[in-house]
Amino acid sequence: VVYLIMPDRFSNGDTSNDSIATLKDKLKRKDQYGRHGGDIQGIINHLDYFNDLGVTTLWLTPALENDQPHASYHGYAITDYYKVDPRHGSNELYKQMVEKAHQKGLKVIMDMVFNHCGSEHWWMNDLPSKDWINQWPEYTNCNFRAATLSDPYASEYDKKRMSKGWFVKTMPDLNQDNPFVAKYLTQNSIWWVEYADLDGIRTDTHPYSEKAFTASWAKEVITEYPNFNIVGEVWMNDTPLCAYWQKDALNKDGFNSNLPTVMDFPLMFTLQKVFNEEQSWDKGAARLYDHLSKDFLYPNPNNILIFADNHDESRFFTKNDSIEKYKMTMAFLLTTRGIPQIYYGTEILMKGMKSEGDGKLRLDFPGGWADDKRNAFTAEGRTKKENEAWNYLQTILKYRKGSDVLTSGKLKQFVPEDNIYVYFRYNSSKTVMVILNINKSEKTLKTNRFIEATKGFTKGHDIITGNDFDIQNEITLSPNSATILELIP
Ligand code: CA
Repeated sequence: VVYLIMPDRFSNGDTSNDSIATLKDKLKRKDQYGRHGGDIQGIINHLDYFNDLGVTTLWLTPALENDQPHASYHGYAITDYYKVDPRHGSNELYKQMVEKAHQKGLKVIMDMVFNHCGSEHWWMNDLPSKDWINQWPEYTNCNFRAATLSDPYASEYDKKRMSKGWFVKTMPDLNQDNPFVAKYLTQNSIWWVEYADLDGIRTDTHPYSEKAFTASWAKEVITEYPNFNIVGEVWMNDTPLCAYWQKDALNKDGFNSNLPTVMDFPLMFTLQKVFNEEQSWDKGAARLYDHLSKDFLYPNPNNILIFADNHDESRFFTKNDSIEKYKMTMAFLLTTRGIPQIYYGTEILMKGMKSEGDGKLRLDFPGGWADDKRNAFTAEGRTKKENEAWNYLQTILKYRKGSDVLTSGKLKQFVPEDNIYVYFRYNSSKTVMVILNINKSEKTLKTNRFIEATKGFTKGHDIITGNDFDIQNEITLSPNSATILELIP
């Protein structure tokens, strides 16, 4: 289970690095686009917190130097690919963080950016060659249409705008068609994996780089580190467009991305709707069923990152402002197929609307700064409702950690009836039954139609309440609830 952190906004473990004389953007904690002072030491200080919560892997948004004058806090405008930003710490501290995480059984994923660098990157003053970056007669924006790269009808113009147009003016578009750029980025990745002993890479804006480059890059990294995983930010609206980008997809154009893991953005969009609409044959619970039914398109459906939100989207709890919807969502994410990702602050119901600015999606974790009014890293510092959310998440995470059936078991789902979604995870030794009752009223679920999955079992052990009850005839479901049952003979 991946826990996504934006280092500037998580915890300030070292106030001496909040502003650096030689770097442009100084501390400005009241500004949503300013530097807030969070750093790698702040993450190291909370390794026990992550274990206590029950997540297993940390994904940090980029921590490399971003010497940009404004909004440099997010880290995606890199100005030195070999140097951790001094406001976050140092290369040595990054390496230590991974080492300490490993000692505590946690893995670390590094966020890498190949599509663009920051406009203040030192090489912009004297480019190694004119075509080091994609140059246009006049500024030309990317069209943000990654579908052009798999579209059988796409025009050359649109494909060029997609791969060679600039993301924004402050982020020059790197030209990976230049073999020296491609080699530079590939060597850089391998250097970081080796130097910091990384467990995985997340590639930013994956389809925006030249696709021949990312395909050969992924192959080269995996050749060096065969057990390594890479997740690409393949931000698409529908499953076929995502599946195109997973390693070994049966693409008609012959393209193989060599990318082991893609992100299930379509599921995120689905989750935004499921709990907030009247049910029908294709709405409500049916959306979850329909979504998963498309998995035949993926070469490896278990290697898909699943999430309800991330640092680029409105926080899930803003759009689904009830503890019941939070619980159903978390129960689903942690028991369906795939690799769950949780955005920091989700465990305390943090909110944020994208329309109010990206900085609002990346609020400081309360208690991460010494002068904060409260410390939500501790139960005493959390509200009653936050503790309810935190404890619920922890209970499922702890169960999942020791449970092969949820991490690698098979999945069987049933067509939802009456807005109740039922599915099973099973292997040769265990069966887990999950029931989402997406109704405002209590429901009675007759269990006879699930006999192919429940055969040989008489009871269910509720992993949240700890209660065992009979499942042979019917199960009573609370309004808007998730029930996770380990079946007992
Ligand atoms: Ca700091």
